[in-house]
Amino acid sequence: MAPGDRVDSCPLCRAERITTWYHEDDVCWIADCEICATPMVVWRWHGTDVPADHRDHMARRLAEVADRVFDGHYVDDHMRNIPDHWHAHARPVGGFFGHGFRRDGTPAGELGGGGS
Ligand SMILES: [Zn+2]
Ligand SMILES: [Zn+2]
Repeated sequence: MAPGDRVDSCPLCRAERITTWYHEDDVCWIADCEICATPMVVWRWHGTDVPADHRDHMARRLAEVADRVFDGHYVDDHMRNIPDHWHAHARPVGGFFGHGFRRDGTPAGELGGGGS
């Protein structure tokens, strides 16, 4: 797949703005993950073959955003739900989901029940 290609069935390619967006540029965008309530950086291209300079770029941008959201974070680049489109979560130190850790205090009640 050539860089720049999109996959209509891929939610990261669709990039729907259903949560807070923090950042956007030619390489990536950063928005809250609707499931985790943590900032998530998403590569502009569908795929996982990310050049090293793009990885460096995204790590820096994500750290900047995460510093504003959490009092400490780590980067989790394990792609559980969408393994074929590169993305990484910033998660709070001592936690996995953002609830209860965020400086802006996003209420957990905003999440849907899921499970269906
Ligand atoms: Zn998530
Ligand atoms: Zn994609």
